[in-house]
Amino acid sequence: MLPRTPSAITLGPVFHEAAQSLTTELTKNQRLVFAALTRAGTPLSAYQILDLLRDDGFRAPLQVYRALDQLRGLGVVHRLESMNAFVACSHAEDHAHHGEPIGFTICERCGTVSEIHDADFRAFVEGIGARSGFRAEKTTVEIRGLCAECAGGA
Ligand SMILES: [Zn+2]
Ligand SMILES: [Zn+2]
Repeated sequence: MLPRTPSAITLGPVFHEAAQSLTTELTKNQRLVFAALTRAGTPLSAYQILDLLRDDGFRAPLQVYRALDQLRGLGVVHRLESMNAFVACSHAEDHAHHGEPIGFTICERCGTVSEIHDADFRAFVEGIGARSGFRAEKTTVEIRGLCAECAGGA
């Protein structure tokens, strides 16, 4: 189940600056998909993205998937495995993830998804590799529960 329909987004000015310089490097389709995700400010499935971009000439899911793959390769879009949905990176000021761990908290009640941007989280995941010798290449952590607001109002 996907959270409520896309609404206004609240992203910092830094994001817009980085996004602006980034979008000049993207192809038209990548730019449209990235813009759809940043505007939504919430995870979207590939089919929701396709619906949003039909007027822009998108016709087939493959067009969306191709752009998403490339954007994920650039580290500016992440896939939420458990939701099979995609979300724009919320800290685009250092937008290239370059293999660092990515984490999300997902509220089961209101659907709010927040990207974890926490040095301790990163150090913890990297520490696991350092201690065990396991060479992690891709880490995505999804923590489900209640956001502060929902937990407080329960
Ligand atoms: Zn990110
Ligand atoms: Zn919530």
